Amino acid sequence: MKPDLSKPLIGESRENLQTILKAWEPYRIRQLFSWIYEKGSVDFETMTSLSKSLRQVLSEDFNLERPLISKAQVSSDGTQKWLLKLRDAQEIETVHIPEVTRGTLCISSQVGCTLTCKFCHTGTQTLVRNLEAGEILGQVFVARDVFGEWPSPLGKRHVSHLVFMGMGEPLYNYENVAEALKILMDPQGLAFSRQKITLSTSGVVPKIEACGRELGVRLAISLHGVRDDVRDVLVPLNKKYPLKDLLEVVRAYPEISKTDYVTFEYVMLKNVNDSEKDAKELARLIRGIPAKINLIPFNPWPGASYECSDLKTMEKFSEILRHHGYPAPLRKTRGQDILAACGQLKSESMRVSKSKMGGCSKVE
Ligand code: SAH
Ligand code: SF4
Repeated sequence: MKPDLSKPLIGESRENLQTILKAWEPYRIRQLFSWIYEKGSVDFETMTSLSKSLRQVLSEDFNLERPLISKAQVSSDGTQKWLLKLRDAQEIETVHIPEVTRGTLCISSQVGCTLTCKFCHTGTQTLVRNLEAGEILGQVFVARDVFGEWPSPLGKRHVSHLVFMGMGEPLYNYENVAEALKILMDPQGLAFSRQKITLSTSGVVPKIEACGRELGVRLAISLHGVRDDVRDVLVPLNKKYPLKDLLEVVRAYPEISKTDYVTFEYVMLKNVNDSEKDAKELARLIRGIPAKINLIPFNPWPGASYECSDLKTMEKFSEILRHHGYPAPLRKTRGQDILAACGQLKSESMRVSKSKMGGCSKVE
C-alpha cells in the first residue's frame, strides 16, 4: 500500500493556508478557511464554492483528518471520554461534560506531562510530546462531529465551553496552544468567545502575561497549596516559580486580558492542605484578585499517596472562603465510573491499572 503523504489542513491558520496555497486568491483562502473551520467539512468534494480543479488539487495533496476515536466511554451521568489516536499512534484523552444549559469539552495539550504534581495521574506519565495545533483543534472537531454541530448551532450547544484541563501543561506548549486558540476564537473559524475558554496552568509564570495579552482567555491556576513548603511538594514547579511570583502575575491578569475573574483550583487533600488555617491563608493570599475558587475533591488513582478530605472539612473550607467574599463551590465529581477525571487522564497504553478512579471536576 502506498504511504499517505497528504498534509493535514486542520491546524493551519489563514496565513499558513495562503503560504501553502501561494497561487490562490485571498477570497479563495477565506472560502477554504470557512469550509474547514466553520462548516467542518470532512471531504474536499463538499466544498462547492471552490471549482472542481481546486478541489482536485486539495484532495491530491491534503487531508481533513481528525484524530481517530479508538475508544468511547459514556458515564452514567452522561460524561463521555474519548481515547483518541493520533497520526503517529500516540494517544490522548478528551472528556465531554454535559450540563443543563451548556456542554464543556476538557482538552489535552500534550501527550503526558513533564511536570510531576504528586496528586496527578497524568504526572506519572512522562511527556511523550507536545500536541500540534491541529491535534489540539482535532479534539474539538471530534466532539462537534459526534454531536453534529457543524456549523455551530445558535442557542444551546453540546460544545459550548472549552477547558484546557486534560493531559499536559498548556503553557509548556504555548505556541501550538496559541495557534489553536486563535483559530478557535476566529469569528469565521470555530467562533468560540474567549470568555468560554479556560486555560488551566500549574503556574508557568513567564507565559501567563503573554497568555492574557495575546489570547485573553479565562485563566485557572492550579494552586493547591498556600505555603511554599507545601506547594513545593504538591506542585514541584513551585520551586522554580514560588507563590509570590505566581500571585504577582495573576494579580495583573484580569486587567491585561479583560477577563472578569481568575479561577483558583484547589484539590482537597486530607491533612495536607485542608485546615481552617489554610482556608484563611488562601483568602489572605488572593485578597484583591477578582476570583473564584474551585475546591476539587481529590480523585484517587492506584498508587496515589493521598486521600480526599472529609466532606465536613471541605464544607468548612468552602464556608470560610465564602465568608471572606470568595465563591468556593465544592466541585461535583463527574464521570466517576469511566475514569474521566481531570488530572487522572493517561494514555491507555501507559495505564497500569484502571480500577477505582474518580471523575472530572470542571470550571465554570
Ligand atoms: N496541567 C494543567 C492542566 C491539567 S490538570 C494544570 O495543572 O493546571 C487539571 C486540574 O486537575 C488541575 O487543577 C490539576 O491540579 C487537577 N488534578 C490533577 N490531579 C487531580 C486529582 N487526582 N484529583 C483532583 N484534581 C486533580
Ligand atoms: Fe501536569 Fe497539570 Fe498533572 Fe501537574 S496537574 S502533572 S501540570 S497535568
